[in-house]
Amino acid sequence: MSKERIVQDMIARRRDFHQYPEAGWEEYRTTAKIAEILMALQYDVHFASECLKPADVMGHTADVKAEQKRAVEQGANPSLVRLCGDYTGLYADFDTQRPGPFTVLRFDIDCVETAESESPNHRPFREGFASRNPGRCHACGHDGHTAIGLALAELLKEDRGLKGKIRLIFQPAEEGVRGGYAMTQGGILDGADYFFALHLGLGFPGGAVYGGLGGFLCSTKFDAAFTGYGAHAGMEPEKGRNALLGAATAAINLYAIAPHSGGKTRINVGVLTAGEGRNVIPPKAYMKIETRGETNETAEYIYRRSVEILEGSANMFGLDLVIAKQGETNTAESSPDLAELVAEEARSLPGITAEPFRRMSGSDDATWMMKRVQDGGGKAVYIAVGAAISAGHHNEAFDFDEAALPVALETLYRTIKRLHI
Ligand SMILES: [Zn+2]
Ligand SMILES: [Zn+2]
Repeated sequence: MSKERIVQDMIARRRDFHQYPEAGWEEYRTTAKIAEILMALQYDVHFASECLKPADVMGHTADVKAEQKRAVEQGANPSLVRLCGDYTGLYADFDTQRPGPFTVLRFDIDCVETAESESPNHRPFREGFASRNPGRCHACGHDGHTAIGLALAELLKEDRGLKGKIRLIFQPAEEGVRGGYAMTQGGILDGADYFFALHLGLGFPGGAVYGGLGGFLCSTKFDAAFTGYGAHAGMEPEKGRNALLGAATAAINLYAIAPHSGGKTRINVGVLTAGEGRNVIPPKAYMKIETRGETNETAEYIYRRSVEILEGSANMFGLDLVIAKQGETNTAESSPDLAELVAEEARSLPGITAEPFRRMSGSDDATWMMKRVQDGGGKAVYIAVGAAISAGHHNEAFDFDEAALPVALETLYRTIKRLHI
């Protein structure tokens, strides 16, 4: 197939995924479509449920049966949806049968939980490819990432000169950093010589490529549920155990955690709900919390202190406490020489300016994969491909200039070619 045709297909697929956005652990249609394309290309496809251990899965609240049904109604192949089982996502291998390196690439496939803009100024709406799933929108560009991964799969298969083995991971639930850890613990990065993750946009202009980002913040997302005892507020208040006071005490004191000399930390109590009726001692309270840190040490510090404060507050009011982790990611740095190589290949494209390194302060759970590969002696980078965007990431009016898609595709392809020849 000509490269022009592959690029056309990539754009068409991006728009198809854009119309059917699926949030973390709901991506049955997306996974089935990816599987169908990769099976036709004779990749060795493994659904995520083959490698995931339930204990490593975070933030899975999807109604599996309902999402599978919806996916089939929206055109997914029913037998592929069935093969997914309880978890979305997959990985696919291309073994050239010739000795050479083992490279792994990660593409995230989930959307953001927001409704998409229906303004005529918003191009996907104007051109008829806006979201058809209420409350769901590809507002981070992962529709583009998925399409890039599939186009790369085609280019690699057509190239008869490659050596070694290439694995493409289509990761579920990146938003809220929920899926990356489980995929990593599934062992599918082990033994990799090279690892690539990529993101479009990120505030960088079209035509700019950064070979390797660094400075990702570690982040932990977790819920705290307090259970006390409800009692009559007038007749026997001494019999109650007040969960609202426990949660409120915790919230105030979480913000009083001392800063750490080792680097930046962040804490946010995003949700606190408690109480039942005006004359009832509140028996239940529920909090959604996140912590972040610049280093593993500072991130562990702020998370550990948070748990101590939650436990202390529960003790003060005689409450039971359950803490449930909903998402977690570590920090990582791109490997300098591999980042340099990516920048060099990107620079060979017309109109592209590329730098090897850039710091940023977001979070992405591809960092689990980067760390795993680096700890095993391999090299890993997180590439940024700049793109003109119509609104910030996660905004309802987010869209990106599709001219960035072939830039990302070519950068990855040329870099892999260098490593696998
Ligand atoms: Zn995002
Ligand atoms: Zn993203």
